[in-house]
Amino acid sequence: MIPLSLPNIAGNEAKYVQECLETGWISTAGDYVTKFEENFSNWIRSDSAVSTMNGTAALHLSMLVAGIKQDDLVVMPNVTFVASANAIRYVGAEPVLIDIDVDSWQMDLNLLESFLHHECYFGTDGSLYHKDKKKKVAAVLIVHVQGHMCDFDKLQEICSRFSLPLIEDAAEALGSSYDGKYAGTLGMIGCYSFNGNKIMSTGGGGMVISKNSELISKIRHLATTAKTNPMTYFHDEVGYNYRMVNILAAIGVAQLENLDSFINRKKEIASFYEKELDGIGDIVFQKSHHKVKPNNWLFTISTSRMKDLLVHLNSQNIMSRPFWMPMNQLPMYKECIFCNENDISNIVHSHCLSIPCSTNITSDELEIVVQSIKDFF
Ligand SMILES: *Cc1c(COP(=O)(O)O)cnc(C)c1O
Repeated sequence: MIPLSLPNIAGNEAKYVQECLETGWISTAGDYVTKFEENFSNWIRSDSAVSTMNGTAALHLSMLVAGIKQDDLVVMPNVTFVASANAIRYVGAEPVLIDIDVDSWQMDLNLLESFLHHECYFGTDGSLYHKDKKKKVAAVLIVHVQGHMCDFDKLQEICSRFSLPLIEDAAEALGSSYDGKYAGTLGMIGCYSFNGNKIMSTGGGGMVISKNSELISKIRHLATTAKTNPMTYFHDEVGYNYRMVNILAAIGVAQLENLDSFINRKKEIASFYEKELDGIGDIVFQKSHHKVKPNNWLFTISTSRMKDLLVHLNSQNIMSRPFWMPMNQLPMYKECIFCNENDISNIVHSHCLSIPCSTNITSDELEIVVQSIKDFF
């Protein structure tokens, strides 16, 4: 079986984990947690960072410190991994789902603008409200789908015009950039995931960054059960146990040492596929805005014969999988506002599939994948 996207554990992971085991520092306290946060901040050129047990926890904490409250509305793309929408629900808020752009598969900014302009109004308190629901529109949660990004200048202009804080779900976009600036560093808060299939992995893990170090301190506080005094067990609010453990941070420090090479390898894989599959059948690739440099995390193609190609590849032991089900098609979110003209989400969902692109895939395996797709068409 040629796997879809596996972690690449070829560096100092074992050495650093061994050190945790030998010293007994395996839990939430320990030098590797601090080191991972510092090294990550340096790599991404951010001022402060706090690690979490996974990307979903990072998103949840971001919603809390961004002040999203019960019954608020948070605008997000309709196509993403379900965790983005769940994080909004965890704080009692409601997602507003915006359809995606047919070429880039990112949130359609024209639909976003039209929703804010036509369906919302500024209240006397200066906040934005939805006309029908009379609920406050509290933030935009942008997702960098498949490590690509939207026209960020335009997004930022829209958010500032409507006074909306911008939170980035950069779980798939570690190392992607817009106009030379890294995904996750452009909004008020950026969230990352180090789940097994992501471009770098700690097994499970996440990170939150922000230029505003006060927000990061708040997140650190909430993630550590809101404990203000470890000697007296005094907690000043309802907190969470969301911290990353030292043993996983040790893996993170080692993974980060190889992140540049992972990104380079993903780029090589994407270039190879784009060269070899260009013009084969009706295959179309995900398109990028000209200012975006994607991290090419998960190579995904679009074809009208997606379902058959999926069966064909998997029967040949080439792991491939379809795109996520759009949020508006999931039972928990089907009642949410879904802004769309032609339900592009559903078209993309019924046309796209991801093909093997682990950083340690061999060139022979890449040839096998390409040949199998050519044979199919
Ligand atoms: C992976 C992912 C997450 C969640 O991260 P976990 O670490 O798995 O909790 C959130 N959003 C997006 C877009 C993702 O791809």
